[in-house]
Amino acid sequence: MSVPTRSVTVWITGDQCAMSNTALMAAQQDSSTVLMIESVQRGGKLKYHKKKLVLIYSIMRHFADELRQAGWNVDYYREAPDFASALEQHLQKFQPNELYLMEQTEYEQAQTLMSMLEGRAVKIFRHCNFISNRADFDNLHRAESARVTMETFYRAMRRKTGVLMDGVHPLGGAWNFDKENREAPPKNLTINSPLAFPPDRTTIEVIRMVEKHFGGHPGTTTNWRYAVTRTDALEAARDFFDSRLNNFGRYQDAMIAGEPFLNHSLLSPYINTCLLNPLELCREAENRYLLKQAPLNSVEGFIRQLIGWREFVWRVYWRLMPEYKTRNSLNATAGLPDFYYTGKTKMRCMQDALSGVLEHGYAHHIARLMLLGNFALIAGLDPLETNNWFHEMFVDGYDWVMVPNVIGMSLHADGGYVGTKPYAASANYINKMSNYCKGCPYNPKTAVEADSCPFNSLYWDFLLRHHDEFSRNQRMSMILRQLETKPLNWIQAIQSKAKSLRSGGWDI
Ligand SMILES: Cc1cc2nc3c(=O)[nH]c(=O)nc-3n(C[C@H](O)[C@H](O)[C@H](O)COP(=O)(O)OP(=O)(O)OC[C@H]3O[C@@H](n4cnc5c(N)ncnc54)[C@H](O)[C@@H]3O)c2cc1C
Ligand code: SF4
Repeated sequence: MSVPTRSVTVWITGDQCAMSNTALMAAQQDSSTVLMIESVQRGGKLKYHKKKLVLIYSIMRHFADELRQAGWNVDYYREAPDFASALEQHLQKFQPNELYLMEQTEYEQAQTLMSMLEGRAVKIFRHCNFISNRADFDNLHRAESARVTMETFYRAMRRKTGVLMDGVHPLGGAWNFDKENREAPPKNLTINSPLAFPPDRTTIEVIRMVEKHFGGHPGTTTNWRYAVTRTDALEAARDFFDSRLNNFGRYQDAMIAGEPFLNHSLLSPYINTCLLNPLELCREAENRYLLKQAPLNSVEGFIRQLIGWREFVWRVYWRLMPEYKTRNSLNATAGLPDFYYTGKTKMRCMQDALSGVLEHGYAHHIARLMLLGNFALIAGLDPLETNNWFHEMFVDGYDWVMVPNVIGMSLHADGGYVGTKPYAASANYINKMSNYCKGCPYNPKTAVEADSCPFNSLYWDFLLRHHDEFSRNQRMSMILRQLETKPLNWIQAIQSKAKSLRSGGWDI
């Protein structure tokens, strides 16, 4: 049987599964085929958490069904060895005159796909899940080498979208309510767990497929909880707005043992695959404030994450890649401790965060930044290796968002582009913002005793190692002054304690 020639192929990759995909929207149903490929090679490029693989492949299979139901002709390749062989089969079968693709989010992936399509007529359409364009960001730079802060960019995005604006002024009289969003968690804080979605037949099939091809990858496929369709992702968003947005702001920086999600939205897996659109979420959050259903500090805090941080890191990535990913301005070279993969450590805070990562492929922002990232920063772990670990272990991990968050925000390896000051902290911060230290065998109050918290000696050792670089940074002057008052024997004890943690193979 001969297959009718269709003039356009719309190639949709796993993180672009939306009816609002701009390449799909530009195509005519009767003359186009949608191409979707599950590439086993791509799934094995890094040791991705099994739940991340299940999420992507299940979203793809559900979306392909939705497309068929909507009348699209879909050419879907299950468990293809790689993109190139499936693409070749597709091109032979359909012989399209033109290929339509929405922009890829990841630098390397974009290069790989374009080299496969070299010599063919290809149209690239702008990404449907970002609000800013290149000029929005570039025009804010006074000079090529200058940097733009997230706050400056965020205000530009508020003006551009009109979200939380009263004419040209910010609603509520201020752009940013971050100071109201740093409360330590009270003992009796009520937490409403995010809605969980049991696996359906398709997801169960995908779980079997992932176990077959990627059985040696970290994480588990049991206790499945993620949405894999837009309908369910919208339910997850509604559940967040109804039951957690109220307290999102106030306790945004808090950490509680056994509570991997707290009041965070758990929507990044859906936003990053295009099941949910960031602007629709911002509008809904704004609406909740206007209806007096949620306080402004929570609503603004949530909106800042989306049209501030998310857009900012996207723009930083595309302005500075590929060089950005290789930055290591603090010359950190230590290898990743095994406990990042096994979760086996006596440090209660790290153990708890890592168990959430191993089970769900998730930790909330403060656990990522002030525990997992902070440890890597002060221990001097290699930025690229740490970046790859984050990329592998998180269900929402993609190069474009991981690189600026890990290499930039968390490890300060970008020389201070994303953050003007390293997010380094001792046990003092963790003790204040969590309930971890009470049940921990380590003592958060001391630094050089046998049972002292490792965060303490590593923190001071980090400041000592980088004293000269940081002395040029105004924002570090207060903490460095504190260091300069310490006696020599204390400094030597700190350095020797930090050295013994390292040489002991991080058996802590
Ligand atoms: C070391 C490190 C690694 C990170 N890796 C990722 C990653 O791989 N993928 C990812 O999407 N985010 C990453 N982030 C950013 C942020 O931690 C996650 O987006 C957030 O924790 C996701 O959970 P949530 O949906 O519950 O977020 P919420 O706290 O509910 O925030 C709402 C939304 O805002 C967006 N957002 C918030 N902060 C950021 C940020 N810094 N950068 C980009 N978007 C942001 C996300 O879309 C998120 O869903 C990382 C942060 C750090 C410090
Ligand atoms: S004492 Fe140190 S290791 Fe233990 S929970 Fe507190 S900060 Fe973490």
